Amino acid sequence: MNIDTTGIEYIVKKVMAEIDVAVETGKPIKDGEFGIFNDMENAIDAAFTAQKSFMRTSLAFRSKLIAAMRAEMLKKENMETICALAVEETGMGNYQHKLLKHELACNKTPGVEDLVAEAMTGDDGLTLIEQSPFGVIGAVSPSTNPSETVINNSIGMLAGGNTVVFAPHPSAKKVSALCVKLLNKAIMEVGGPANLIVTTYEPTIESANTMFTSDKITMLCATGGPGVVKSVLKSGKKAIGAGAGNPPALVDETADIEKAGKDIIDGCCFDNNLPCIAEKEVIVVEQVADYLIFNMKKNGAYELTDPKKIQELADTVYPNGRLSRDFVGRDACVILKAIGIEADPSVRVIIMETAKDHLFAVEELMMPILPIIRVKDVAEGIDLACELEHGNRHTAIMHSTNVNNLTEMAKRVQTTIFVKNGPSYAGIGVGGEGYTTFTIAGPTGEGLTSARSFTRKRRCVLVGGFTIK
Ligand code: NAD
Repeated sequence: MNIDTTGIEYIVKKVMAEIDVAVETGKPIKDGEFGIFNDMENAIDAAFTAQKSFMRTSLAFRSKLIAAMRAEMLKKENMETICALAVEETGMGNYQHKLLKHELACNKTPGVEDLVAEAMTGDDGLTLIEQSPFGVIGAVSPSTNPSETVINNSIGMLAGGNTVVFAPHPSAKKVSALCVKLLNKAIMEVGGPANLIVTTYEPTIESANTMFTSDKITMLCATGGPGVVKSVLKSGKKAIGAGAGNPPALVDETADIEKAGKDIIDGCCFDNNLPCIAEKEVIVVEQVADYLIFNMKKNGAYELTDPKKIQELADTVYPNGRLSRDFVGRDACVILKAIGIEADPSVRVIIMETAKDHLFAVEELMMPILPIIRVKDVAEGIDLACELEHGNRHTAIMHSTNVNNLTEMAKRVQTTIFVKNGPSYAGIGVGGEGYTTFTIAGPTGEGLTSARSFTRKRRCVLVGGFTIK
């Protein structure tokens, strides 16, 4: 068939218009297009077929696809649409901070360079340990970092030679589908295959369970609360569990208190406290407590001192013994308004002194409410930090200039991330050294996941050759 230039232009325009509509709404143009399926079984089948040929492609090809994925997601219009949609759809978080998190996921998620082989050579020859794909990974993603997790997991999992099926949180289904669509579009535009990243447009617990039990899925990766981590660990498959945290920030009398006050507020209010790594309670040595609170207030904290108001706040955000989703990830001013307080928009965090067993300290609230607990000395502070971290082995923060105190805390608390003298987000590569991840696997021990976490170690033994020692 011969098509003239006008015909080609017409077709290109038509396709681009369809893509634009699809990008705007997050809806698939037709079942399976851009990796978005109506049915989980079909999504898994497509990813399974795609992986068979993808695992035979070169590392250079994988790198090319990943570069295209990063570039597509970093386009200004895509970043703005995705971050605005994430806030609108979930009703949670802070748009400006979501932009930062989005850029972080695009720029600082490692690619194929993360796959480093080990070699052993000697009289008996050469043995290589290489990182090989698992196959098709079933990834459960949360409502709190929906787009960042899809971007971050996709880059790491594809770098490892896998394909991925996402089961996103139902309350973030549109933004998750939009990310899957844009990532596939980017892959296909540079000559990559379809269905390396797939999902369903209507995710449900049932469709997640279909994924958990499918023979075609060889690894599961759950980023979410304790329920979903438990489910994947019961699946009988290799599973990565990135679960809940309740990060304590401990401040001792040797700390730079002015900096600690600012760092704690900066970390706590990041994306309205949605990140699992964000400061959730402060433990401070009595001697420096007043000055720390003074500095927190200087940096955008609103202090509640009336016990009745503190109780009213607890009843509002945690009614009938359950966390109210209406306040998760909301602005501090919105939360204060719910208890009749009109605060200045510069207020970023609500602070109050509480007992160590107050629900604000014990529960993971994921909102900018930060309880402060006084302790007599650092030893009592470390004990309490361990208690409130609940053995999640997730994240802890400490402000101190005493190496012995920092070492003791690190040994005792056993968290995957331990940030010293900085805001919590330094632990995921914002103002702290190192790559980023949005899947921090404490319970199963992979730590800050990257491409290598999604691979199997395999040994290749060449007997009696290739040694030149
Ligand atoms: P959530 O547990 O409500 O949901 C997470 C995901 O699991 C969603 O996709 C949800 O649909 C799915 N899910 C939940 N229960 C399930 C079940 N029984 N079977 C199958 N699927 C199930 O969590 P959320 O509110 O979206 O996210 C916040 C939680 O996730 C917090 O506890 C936070 O600490 C944690 N989190 C941890 C990390 C990490 O890297 N460790 C990262 C982000 C969030």
